[in-house]
Amino acid sequence: MADAKRPRKPRGKARYIEGKCIACGDTCMAACNTGAIELNDNGEPVIHLAKCNGCKRCVKVCPAGALEMFYTPDEQKILEEYGKKEVAAAVKIPQKAIAGWDGGVWVFVEQHEGVAHSVSWELLGEGRKLAQALNVELAALLLGDNVNPLIQEAFGYGADKVYVVDDPVLKYYRTQPYLHGCLNMINKYKPEIVLVGATGQGRDLAGAVATHLKTGLTADCTGLSISMEDRLLEQTRPAFGGNIMATILTETARPQMSTVRPHVMAKPEFQEGQTGEIVQEPFDLSEELIATKILEIVPLKSDSTVNLAGARIIVSGGRGMMGPENFNLLRELAGLLGAEVGSSRSAVDAGWMPHAHQVGQTGKTVSPKLYIACGISGAIQHLVGMQTSEFIIAINKDKNAPIFDVAHLGIVGDLFDIIPAVIEQVRKQKEATGQALAAV
Ligand SMILES: Cc1cc2nc3c(=O)[nH]c(=O)nc-3n(C[C@H](O)[C@H](O)[C@H](O)COP(=O)(O)OP(=O)(O)OC[C@H]3O[C@@H](n4cnc5c(N)ncnc54)[C@H](O)[C@@H]3O)c2cc1C
Repeated sequence: MADAKRPRKPRGKARYIEGKCIACGDTCMAACNTGAIELNDNGEPVIHLAKCNGCKRCVKVCPAGALEMFYTPDEQKILEEYGKKEVAAAVKIPQKAIAGWDGGVWVFVEQHEGVAHSVSWELLGEGRKLAQALNVELAALLLGDNVNPLIQEAFGYGADKVYVVDDPVLKYYRTQPYLHGCLNMINKYKPEIVLVGATGQGRDLAGAVATHLKTGLTADCTGLSISMEDRLLEQTRPAFGGNIMATILTETARPQMSTVRPHVMAKPEFQEGQTGEIVQEPFDLSEELIATKILEIVPLKSDSTVNLAGARIIVSGGRGMMGPENFNLLRELAGLLGAEVGSSRSAVDAGWMPHAHQVGQTGKTVSPKLYIACGISGAIQHLVGMQTSEFIIAINKDKNAPIFDVAHLGIVGDLFDIIPAVIEQVRKQKEATGQALAAV
């Protein structure tokens, strides 16, 4: 029975976090059942507190995390009391399943012929933040044949410990032996969290490991953090076709597993001379027991020479380019800047650009020093693929285009006037200085 003297749990009110709205349309307004949200001329939410019933729907659906709940000081005190009781109750549920999984934060190091994929080091950078928040060790899990040189690299990128399984059977990636090796290590040392790169190999392995361990796996995360109340990993990723950002928890199973695409997280600086603990384990599956045999390694032939993921500068075009021929303008500018040409999905769907050039949720994730978005509106599915770029310039004739919310420099105007003028200026400057402008 409810305690008669206990005050009701406060629901709070929604509040807009100034400057965070990306003017996505009317997502928050549509979610509100009480008509408490209107949009101002900039497309930002205006909340009528008297009408808000604290249902949190708007906070949950906002793709930009621009809404939050707020409580008066008295309400906060009541919530704290509730919090203590709820945490005590919640602890009862998963304890059995998660007990003993305290082996720290692990990052799987993906390598091919002894060369590590850079996503592994990016994940060590992110893993360090999680390990710090949890006050646990950060470890790298390394499988392969003759991979000792990578141990030092893992320490240099921040690992406190490296778990190694080195065996000729692991020379090339195959699901069965890699799964076997990973399961042995994970079951023995019980990490709390395992992070894997969302590459072809990583997706294959992480799915298999999570299935065998009967734990949760959140794919393609764009954000990772720790909930300090309960030490859970908060795994954020686009959901429902990218229309909302969902934060997913693995409450009742361990380890908590996430994959993250390359270039989503920043790669930490390499620290020369770092060392740590090495834990070497034998591999106990012989070649005869493995169903898949590698007969030949054939390097992938690609029609496209575009390298968006590694580009320092990207000049990208969207539906505002109005046709395939106008991408020549972007090619000209890109040529002068030493840049690659990217595009939105609309331009790809229209057949103006090949898919290899697409940036975004279903294209490439990029993080160049400079991203120039031309005639791109800034849909959330595009933004998740480029918003970590160091400097973003957006050219759009619509001053309310959401791309301006992530741009460091916004130019409102017709790209067919602006880009030729920029090309002319860059060309003049190059002629004057006799230098390439490739270095930003
Ligand atoms: C599951 C799913 C996955 C998706 N994945 C991706 C993805 O990976 N990448 C991606 O990009 N999209 C993706 N999308 C599509 C996304 O939702 C948008 O539809 C798309 O990004 C819009 O492309 P755009 O900005 O080029 O076109 P529009 O939204 O049509 O915008 C064109 C812009 O050009 C401007 N413009 C027009 N003429 C000019 C001019 N002369 N000068 C200056 N500006 C001009 C307009 O003001 C407008 O802002 C995905 C959608 C879904 C549902």
